[in-house]
Amino acid sequence: MTFLSHCECSGCGEHYDVAELLNLCRCGKPLLARYDLDAAAAGFPREALRDRAASMWRYEEMLPAESEVAVTLGEGWTPLLGAPRLGSWLGLRNVYVKDESLNPTGSFKARGMSAAVTMAASRGARAFAVPSAGNAAGALAAYAARAGVPCYIFMPADTPLANRIECAYAGADVTLVDGLITDCGRIVAERKDAEGWFDVSTLKEPYRIEGKKTMGYELAEQLGWELPDVILYPTGGGTGLIGMWKAFDEMERLGWIGSARPRMVSVQASGCAPIVRAFEAGAESADEFPNAHTVASGLRVPRAIGDFLILRALRESGGTAVAVDDDDLIGGVRSLCETEGILAAPEGGACVAALRRLVETGWVGRDERVVIFNTGTGVKYLEALGGA
Ligand SMILES: *Cc1c(COP(=O)(O)O)cnc(C)c1O
Repeated sequence: MTFLSHCECSGCGEHYDVAELLNLCRCGKPLLARYDLDAAAAGFPREALRDRAASMWRYEEMLPAESEVAVTLGEGWTPLLGAPRLGSWLGLRNVYVKDESLNPTGSFKARGMSAAVTMAASRGARAFAVPSAGNAAGALAAYAARAGVPCYIFMPADTPLANRIECAYAGADVTLVDGLITDCGRIVAERKDAEGWFDVSTLKEPYRIEGKKTMGYELAEQLGWELPDVILYPTGGGTGLIGMWKAFDEMERLGWIGSARPRMVSVQASGCAPIVRAFEAGAESADEFPNAHTVASGLRVPRAIGDFLILRALRESGGTAVAVDDDDLIGGVRSLCETEGILAAPEGGACVAALRRLVETGWVGRDERVVIFNTGTGVKYLEALGGA
């Protein structure tokens, strides 16, 4: 069963009925799923997880739908790998890699799309549309195919070849746009009503974040119900970071963890660092980043609709935001692969490079427990890695 009760606007607080097909609040801000946490605290002890399936749906009580009705390809419950050789190269004793490359479609976008497609398909969506820098498109195409619902994808023309091919094979209708993901988003927003498309853009529907929050549940469970000291997260739209921050609060209300929280670090590319810029300026929201460019396509998000939620989580956690150059993030991919055998996406490499910087400045201490996210597989980025 699920303890989902309603959706609530992250801006004005208005409530929405979860039987409906939901996008943004009338005020334009993202909706967040809310659960009956008192009932869940009584009815969902963490011991219940013991015999559950090795997928994110093991947390179904705190997901928007039951696992039996989920549109699933086995996403989630990815390994949390100790990384001692990377750690000693960095001068750290307790480094872990949460390796999201093992998800269906090779990235953590699978988690969000599994949840979003499950909810929208069961509430009457007849076609999906998404603007994507790459991996969201591949994941949506796969889950839409599995649900038997058509989908329309808008991607920048220089999106990695792997993403274009996976969408085409899944039968998605793909349009390559001469522009950025924000331009793609504008096209979807303009056409969706006339075309009857359900817009699955990051944070423009409430459930992708619910899928991604399970990374927070898994971290806690895999670390024996203790959270790490520091989490480095490669941030585009910020869904996973906002989602994990939400998961930590939910788990505390469930009585699964205490009040200690990790320091959250947003890692971005120097060529597209709107959150880093806003964090350093002390701003509550982020301006659109001009001339965005980076080979880490998942980080090529010049404007995030959840910017204020990302910035709030960074500050409440005592965290920070770090930008790294493309050369350094590719170097990070190499270091992680040389030391631990994990061929990461450039976004994962960015976390390695950022951690190195944070160790050098003393922001991360030698004995702290640090988790870096490898959000996708390097195999999907051969153009970016091939020349390195
Ligand atoms: C989408 C994506 C990101 C950014 O994720 P958000 O949760 O939207 O910030 C990072 N890495 C990869 C590989 C991605 O596909």
